[in-house]
Amino acid sequence: MASGAVELGLLGRPVSHSLSPVLHEAALGAVGLRGRYRLHDVGEGELAGWVARLREGEVDGLNVTIPHKIAAAGLCDRLVGPAAALGVVNTLARGADGQVEGSNTDVVGLRRAIAAAFPSTPIVGAPVCVIGAGGAAHAAVLAAAAFSPSQIRVANRTADRGRALVSRLSSVVDVPLVALSRFEDAAAGAALLLQATSYGMGLTPGSREWESAYDKLRPVVGALGPAAGVMDLVYRPPVTVWCAAAHHADKLAAAGLQMLVNQAVESFGRWTGRRVDPGIMMTAAKEALATGR
Ligand code: NAP
Repeated sequence: MASGAVELGLLGRPVSHSLSPVLHEAALGAVGLRGRYRLHDVGEGELAGWVARLREGEVDGLNVTIPHKIAAAGLCDRLVGPAAALGVVNTLARGADGQVEGSNTDVVGLRRAIAAAFPSTPIVGAPVCVIGAGGAAHAAVLAAAAFSPSQIRVANRTADRGRALVSRLSSVVDVPLVALSRFEDAAAGAALLLQATSYGMGLTPGSREWESAYDKLRPVVGALGPAAGVMDLVYRPPVTVWCAAAHHADKLAAAGLQMLVNQAVESFGRWTGRRVDPGIMMTAAKEALATGR
């Protein structure tokens, strides 16, 4: 923060679609800090240089997104909280000792979003289903475990990746984890479905692709338990095809905006020591989505 302005940013590829600058620049304004949040479209080979810039104080905080969440974890001086168990980071901060600390604020972000969206859903002692096997699905398994379900079932398009996630995380959570091949089998009777793939992202409601996805998803959400909730981590469009299929099956459903805001609040706190009102970020995000940013 040499110039007195806070320098924040996102490392990923692609990054141009990200709402993070909108959220964090609204937060900087709200807490009275000067600064900016920039998008950096980088390949894996450039990550180490950015970690060094953070260590040296040229930048004050970084988020990490697709496809670098695992590679970046390997470059940190230390991993804290759930990141240590997962080996997956979305936030890099400079600690008081100047070392680079990797954390995973997706876990707490999703946990809070689930609690807010489904306050009456009986998750304790019931099965939960996680669709996906990437960085977001790792965070989803940890977030789901916090609700003490009877079992977490993981299903992924590439079944081997689903099985690898289950063997990696089985010793990390104290809830039985199983990998299943068919989405319908994973969803059968579950109280909560966490959709942690990019399937459906950016689809235009009513388009041919939307209709085809909707038809594929109806039997999956239809297999859930009667009072189940569906949380799609995707947030574009604001009512995703997973949410639309869930509504049709009479299930509660929420898209990923609440999680996005909650993880951003947590990351912002790690970088600046300030707690921003999530409502500030939510308003900024909704305005940006409404104007097509
Ligand atoms: P990732 O590590 O690249 O993993 C992508 C996942 O999506 C894999 O499980 C992949 O399955 C699956 N997938 C991709 N295309 C698919 C398709 N056509 N059909 C079925 N499955 C497909 O990405 P990630 O970091 O886990 O992120 C996943 C999604 O979560 C992204 O859309 C991201 O924007 C979202 N997310 C949202 C938040 C939030 O705050 N709301 C936070 C983190 C992530 P395969 O293994 O078969 O390729």
